[in-house]
Amino acid sequence: MPEKKEITVEENVLDANRRLALANLDTLNRKHIRSLDILGSIGSGKTSIVKQCIRRLKKDYRIAAIAGDLTTTIDADRIKEEGAPVLQINTGGQCHLDAAVIGKTLKSLNLDDLDLILIENVGNLICPGSFPLGTHDRMVVVSVTEGPYMVVKHPYIFMDASVLAINKMDLAEIMGVDMNRLKSEALQIKPDIKVVFTNAKTGEGIENLIDALNLKPPRHA
Ligand code: MG
Ligand code: ZN
Repeated sequence: MPEKKEITVEENVLDANRRLALANLDTLNRKHIRSLDILGSIGSGKTSIVKQCIRRLKKDYRIAAIAGDLTTTIDADRIKEEGAPVLQINTGGQCHLDAAVIGKTLKSLNLDDLDLILIENVGNLICPGSFPLGTHDRMVVVSVTEGPYMVVKHPYIFMDASVLAINKMDLAEIMGVDMNRLKSEALQIKPDIKVVFTNAKTGEGIENLIDALNLKPPRHA
């Protein structure tokens, strides 16, 4: 019996989050702001990818970034170097962002001055998947340094993702990781996921990523 009760509580939490996520999406749509939730382990390269994207997109979009982290401001400080406003959310113990905290953050931004919001979720591949934030797209970043089983071991995170960046492509051979195999495993989980190989350090593949995210401004088309 107690177990059953626990499951009900969890469903209520997830339902409540889903409702708040829809409200966030509605807010973003009314303000004509595109939004992206970026998921991946610590060290997969989420922050580097955000930086590379801002560098290429800031002339065409008014961008803000939101960085979720347990306690540090390392990511926000790095993103700030690209000249976009960054809001750091320290979740305390919580290992994921949720729609409520994003809703509050949206209220603190001047939404009339923005076209694009990039949200770097807490570095974790398990529960962020269960907490949609109300963004238009979700991107998962997987690094080849995480080994050959990263995709098959975390199927749920890919189900709502539209793009997968397989990062640190320059290290694939050293790591003995077959990137095409990771790609086909992701496609088995989510047949319409767009998979891009990247090296966020050098910027290789970032233009393809921007394409995959449909963020290429029309004049560059
Ligand atoms: Mg980061
Ligand atoms: Zn969590």
